[in-house]
Amino acid sequence: MRGFLAKGLFAAALSLALGFFAGAAPVAGTQKTLQIYFIDVEGGQATLFVTPEGKSLLIDTGWPGNNGRDADRIAATAKDAGIKKIDFVLITHYHDDHVGGAPQLAAKIPVGTFIDHGENRETSDAGASRVFAAYQQLLSSGKYKHIIAKPGEVLPITGMQVRVVTADGELIERPLPGGGKENASCANAAKPPVDVTENPRSLGTLITFGKLRILDLGDLTSDKELDLMCPMNKIGVVDIYIVSHHGWLQSGSPALVHAIAPRVAIMDNGAKKGGSPAAWDVIAKAPGLENLWQLHYAEEGGDAHNVAATFLANLQGPDAGNYLKVTASADGSFEVFNSRTRETKKYEAKKN
Ligand SMILES: [Zn+2]
Repeated sequence: MRGFLAKGLFAAALSLALGFFAGAAPVAGTQKTLQIYFIDVEGGQATLFVTPEGKSLLIDTGWPGNNGRDADRIAATAKDAGIKKIDFVLITHYHDDHVGGAPQLAAKIPVGTFIDHGENRETSDAGASRVFAAYQQLLSSGKYKHIIAKPGEVLPITGMQVRVVTADGELIERPLPGGGKENASCANAAKPPVDVTENPRSLGTLITFGKLRILDLGDLTSDKELDLMCPMNKIGVVDIYIVSHHGWLQSGSPALVHAIAPRVAIMDNGAKKGGSPAAWDVIAKAPGLENLWQLHYAEEGGDAHNVAATFLANLQGPDAGNYLKVTASADGSFEVFNSRTRETKKYEAKKN
């Protein structure tokens, strides 16, 4: 790391000197942006954050099997981002579309630290037990640091702030800065039945980069959303909402989505997984929403419940694995790049 830093300083000094001699403005490419890749793992999650200093956080590892398809896609993305190692891998919960790909990933690219919510709480389910056991075996190799995260904690990654808001069914007790207002969307909210799977145990985080706020709650279900958001909105508003649970209807209640009022929502759905019309409608009606982006055209939604092609990374048809990428600046401005269309949409910083 020291060598990297020294090289970085040398490069900065060199570009400064060149800039001075040329009488030019700061050299392009030295801008300090956060990159966020929404990797297509076909209805699972794999979201890679890379800070301006090259520190990385991967939220979830996609599916197991498929000849290492998801590990390959994550490794290719890491290469695109210019990193050779993933510093932190955060596992939201122990379902195969989130933790299943961890062994294949770790065989493909070096990982520093795994972060999770602790024990598997869905021991009655064979699938959850199997992927949890494989993950435990990986941890028992002794090659990795391991953090069991608790609500309220800030994770030890530098260059952005990653604050835990939910973990193992527990929630932050006090509102975060920017939160604390009464939530009008709670008024008519009927409390859904308690979900007993791993989903409501999801390790959820609020990620802050300068003025930009990004919320990821994994597959947290609506029963927990109401605990977190009612009667008081403990989160406040966010800029980017990583749509919970792939846009499935068990998650994404108005009490959450309308209160956080995202400018942009990004849904990591698959063609046949997620993107339920009911959940899609809630996002579409969120106050202040500028755009919803989807990793896939959701077959369940039909044309009435899918965004325009510009905002879709993968259309109907063969699996192409296209991704979406956010590049964000500390002033709160950001842009979204669609790897299928090669087009970028810019979002100016909020005026306030
Ligand atoms: Zn999932």
